[in-house]
Amino acid sequence: MIFNQIQQHSDNFTYLIANEKTKEAAVVDSSYNADEIIKILKTQNLRLKYVINTHGHSDHTAGNTELKSIFGAKIVTHKLSKVNCDVRVEDGDVIKVGTISLKIIYTPGHTIDSICILVDNQKLLTGDTLFVGECGRTDMPGGSSKSMYDSLFNKILKLEDNIEVYPGHDYGSTPTSTIGRERTSNYTLQPRALTDFIEFMSQP
Ligand SMILES: [Zn+2]
Repeated sequence: MIFNQIQQHSDNFTYLIANEKTKEAAVVDSSYNADEIIKILKTQNLRLKYVINTHGHSDHTAGNTELKSIFGAKIVTHKLSKVNCDVRVEDGDVIKVGTISLKIIYTPGHTIDSICILVDNQKLLTGDTLFVGECGRTDMPGGSSKSMYDSLFNKILKLEDNIEVYPGHDYGSTPTSTIGRERTSNYTLQPRALTDFIEFMSQP
């Protein structure tokens, strides 16, 4: 599997996932610097099939139109997203890129259209739901601390400790982590009752 974490402006990460044999590729969160992604795709002779957005905020979607027009890729978002898209997904859907499977996990909280993407049951792309050492904010339009609680504690923390974590921004002490490391070291994931979590998230 080809798997690249690409640092963008303003701490955003774009991810490029591709199958070496079939040359099929997917980009997760196009962000602002499409030129860099286009260069990598062309250099490696990859065929971009999908551009998947972890959610609709513009710092994650800004390159969609350009990538679609150059490569004919399909834009993929959660079904509740307001982003212009070709494929609408929901929890449990699987997108194939060659032999690689991208499983959609619906994780609202930061926004109502937030998803995480589990790559071959091995790497979790967490968008703005989970960062290294932090979780996403819930005080923007469509945000919900109650939904974030459910997404973090009943979905993400149910995954195996050895799964690698690839966040949507470079906000942590390291660019990547694992579920196990976040489970023990991320202060937002410490055991809390729902009411305590909602109060915790409302603190400045
Ligand atoms: Zn966001």
